[in-house]
Amino acid sequence: MRRAVVTGGAGFLGSHLCTELRRRGVEVVALDNFLTGNPGNVAHLADDPGFRLVHCDVTDYIHVPGDVDLVLHFASPASPVDYLKLPIHTLKVGSIGTNHALGLAKDKGARFLIASTSEVYGDPQVHPQPETYWGHVNPVGPRGVYDEAKRYAEALTMAYRQTHGVDTAIVRIFNTFGPRMRPSDGRAIPTFIRQALAGEPVTVAGDGAQTRSVCFVSDLVRGILALAESGHSGPMNIGNPHELSVLQIARDVIAATGSDSEIRFVGRPVDDPMVRRPDTTLATEVLGWTPEVAWQEGLERTVAWFREAVAGDDAGETV
Ligand code: NAD
Repeated sequence: MRRAVVTGGAGFLGSHLCTELRRRGVEVVALDNFLTGNPGNVAHLADDPGFRLVHCDVTDYIHVPGDVDLVLHFASPASPVDYLKLPIHTLKVGSIGTNHALGLAKDKGARFLIASTSEVYGDPQVHPQPETYWGHVNPVGPRGVYDEAKRYAEALTMAYRQTHGVDTAIVRIFNTFGPRMRPSDGRAIPTFIRQALAGEPVTVAGDGAQTRSVCFVSDLVRGILALAESGHSGPMNIGNPHELSVLQIARDVIAATGSDSEIRFVGRPVDDPMVRRPDTTLATEVLGWTPEVAWQEGLERTVAWFREAVAGDDAGETV
């Protein structure tokens, strides 16, 4: 693999993918419209001649001159706060944007990998969730704009594979955390860290008994690039099966930040999933992948980054 295009390359996950691809010597073209990401996330690559950041809205068109071996399609609002604010854009980037990204892969004869999500399982009735589970999604609920965009994007990816012979892969990403998350993106971990560092109450939805399985970003990136290199089509779950209650996450964040914040219970969002845990048997069997970074270690690294980002006002807020 010599040259990759990363859509959403200035976002949380996209920026970590760009960094790791460059570390492996792969030339990278990152496409982003900076809707929920920002150039600061890839500022460390700005002087790297093997890296280019191009302002591009993938729902308009995608044009990348030269050869491309791999298209990683990561452009999409991803946090509930973002996609509830941007419902139509979220549907467009999942449909039209995915169509353009698949078209690029087809034109270039490149491998294509799409960032799908555990949200395709909705509020699951099977636990943990294997890739064979079809999900339990409310198409007309507020979260439907994201869940259904990703389900459509998966269907479109399979159609390009079957109709045009594009070499495609689908990764279903479970909750991921780490440096470069936006403090106000509304996801539980950055919200809790921001609140704890500011000494504000840490707001837990419902009674906090709902669970999430959270994966540190370096483990996720390793899994995604292993899938990209494998030739496997997926869909494949990548996530950390270690399940935590949201209340436990809040308590651990308070401890890791050394904060004296109290926990405040607030209402649960509509269609908020009660449980979430990936069945990662497929990733282990096909890729030999298992997560390596323990929750506490990942949390400490993330808190350290937030302290610096908040101090340097470096945690770009967009949307
Ligand atoms: P993010 O919001 O940090 O990154 C998304 C990036 O896409 C941003 O830089 C944004 O500006 C860009 N973007 C949005 N619309 C665009 C458009 N029309 N054209 C070009 N760029 C556009 O989110 P993230 O957490 O890095 O998520 C990246 C991808 O991974 C998304 O597709 C998301 O659905 C998927 N995903 C993430 C998680 C997670 O835990 N972070 C879980 C499951 C799936």
